[in-house]
Amino acid sequence: MALMATFFLLAGAFVAVLYLCVPWLYGRWSRKALERLAIRRKTVVVTLDDGPGRQLTDVVLQVLEAEGVKAVFFLLGRNIRGNEEIVRRIHAEGHEIGSHSYDHLHAWKVAPWRAVADIRRGRKAIDDALGVERGEYPFRPPYGKLNLVTWVYLLVTRTPIVYWTIDSGDTWSEAASDHGRTGRLCRTRGGGVILIHDFDRKAGERHRFVLGALRSSLNVARELRLSVSTYSQLIRGQT
Ligand SMILES: [Zn+2]
Repeated sequence: MALMATFFLLAGAFVAVLYLCVPWLYGRWSRKALERLAIRRKTVVVTLDDGPGRQLTDVVLQVLEAEGVKAVFFLLGRNIRGNEEIVRRIHAEGHEIGSHSYDHLHAWKVAPWRAVADIRRGRKAIDDALGVERGEYPFRPPYGKLNLVTWVYLLVTRTPIVYWTIDSGDTWSEAASDHGRTGRLCRTRGGGVILIHDFDRKAGERHRFVLGALRSSLNVARELRLSVSTYSQLIRGQT
């Protein structure tokens, strides 16, 4: 009986290691590889998660246009409803569109089939807004988390999994007012993939922080002559 219990315990531990640790290790490796690539190609990629936001996305687009640069918008499906016009504008202005799932489900906390369904639903929401049947967009995992099933699903469907290398800290509770930190990290590392969020928040202070982080990184890029490109351009060496 004790032998049986030990067997099940070990089998359970093995499955848990496979289910969580394999995609986690992949994530670590992928972030490092992305960071090395961005630095080698002297490139900054600005990525905006969880949008579109009715107020903030519009202002972010204005800043990007004024600077003459393109970014990547990892759209959250549930925020697209009622904001389809903004999605079409992002696309029309030449930015890259990626998916961030529909409901921002944490892949470690829900059943694997729910997490996969959330990925599929998120992509469909973008397709519907753009009036296309593309179904394939670079994917940014909510919370940066994948489980074995979602990881394999993305690999099998040849979906690029895009992490970040510099977190602006705009969702941290202690974000305070140091929006210049993002620019400083770009400067010390010589490039990177920046994570900023463009969903609307009640506190106008957060909006100012987001725009400050965006501007500080673009200023450093200009000063150090780093190129600002989309994820696909970085991967293809078109920076
Ligand atoms: Zn997110």
